[in-house]
Amino acid sequence: MNTPIYSGIITNYVCTAACRHCMFASAPHLSKEYISAEMAEKLAVLLQEAGTRSVHIGGGEPFMNFDALTTLISTLRHHGVGIDYIETNAFWCSDDDFIKERLSKLKALGVETIMVSVDPFHIEFVPLERPIRLCRMLRTCGFDYFIWKERYLRSLWNLDHSRTYSQKELKAALGEKYISETASEYGLGMNGRALFIADSLYPRRAAEAWLSDVPCSSLGDTSHCHLDLYGNIVPSGCPGISADARDYLEENFPAELYPVLYRLTSGGIRALYEYACSKGFVPIPQGYPSRCALCYAMRKYLRECAPSADIAPDCFYYSMEKDDIYS
Ligand code: SF4
Repeated sequence: MNTPIYSGIITNYVCTAACRHCMFASAPHLSKEYISAEMAEKLAVLLQEAGTRSVHIGGGEPFMNFDALTTLISTLRHHGVGIDYIETNAFWCSDDDFIKERLSKLKALGVETIMVSVDPFHIEFVPLERPIRLCRMLRTCGFDYFIWKERYLRSLWNLDHSRTYSQKELKAALGEKYISETASEYGLGMNGRALFIADSLYPRRAAEAWLSDVPCSSLGDTSHCHLDLYGNIVPSGCPGISADARDYLEENFPAELYPVLYRLTSGGIRALYEYACSKGFVPIPQGYPSRCALCYAMRKYLRECAPSADIAPDCFYYSMEKDDIYS
C-alpha cells in the first residue's frame, strides 16, 4: 500500500465562498454534508495502516462544523496521525472571544498551525477584517500561521476591510485583467473552477491536439492527494476523479469499477477519449484551452450516459455546471 505524505482531508465540499479558482468548485449552495465520526475513524485507521504521520485539513470550509472538526482531529490523533495545518477562509472570525474559545480548543487537541486564505478571489465573499482579525488572534494565542497568499494582503490592504468586493469593483481597484493575472501569478493548478479562467489565459486547441498515451503524473501519486468525507481519494490536481481510498492506495483500478481511472492510468487521456467517443462523446468544435478541460468535458459527458464510481463527487459536477463553457 502506498503512503499518503503531504496529503489532506476534505471535511466538506460546501463552503461559505465560491471562489473563481476553487479546485473543488466549492460553494454555499452545495449540500451541508460534513465528514462523519465513523468516516473519520475509517480514514484514520487507513492512514495509520499506510504509515502516514500527519495530514492537513481543508474543504470546502472546515470551520463550518466545528464540533465535527474537533472530532476528526481527536480521531486522527488517537491513531497517531498529526495535523500539519487547518485551512480556513476566516468567515467565522467576527468576534475576538469567539475566536479565542475555538483556538483554545484546537490548541488542547494539539493543533499548532492555521492556513488563512487571502486573495482577490476570497474577498468577493469574506471581508478582509476577518482574516486580519484571525491572524492577530493566532499571534495572541501562540499559534503558527501562514497567509495563502501574503502578497495579496498587501495588494488588497488599501481596500475597505469591512466589506466584500464585486468583480466590477475589483477590476477598478486591481485592473481589468486581475482575474487572469492573479491566476497566473498564483501558480494555480488550472483545474476545477479555474478551468473557466484557463479560457482567458490559453488559446483553445482541438481535442485531438491534447491526446497522449502517457498517464498523467498526478494519477496514482500519493505523495499529495486528498481523502474526502465520502471515504474516497481525489488525486491532487484532478478534482472530479475519485476512488475508494484503499483501492487508490493499493493502485487497484479494475476497469469495470473505475473505467475512467483504469484508462487514464493505463493509456493516458487518449484511452479515455476513445472510451468517451465509443459512448457518443463529440468534442466541441471550438476546442479546449487545456488537457484538463477536455478531460473534464469527457467525464461530465460520461457522468450522464455511463456513470461510474470514479466520476465523483457528484457535487463537483453539479457546482461546475453553473459556469460550464466546455459542453
Ligand atoms: S487530464 Fe485529467 S487526469 Fe490528467 S491531470 Fe488533467 S484532470 Fe487529471
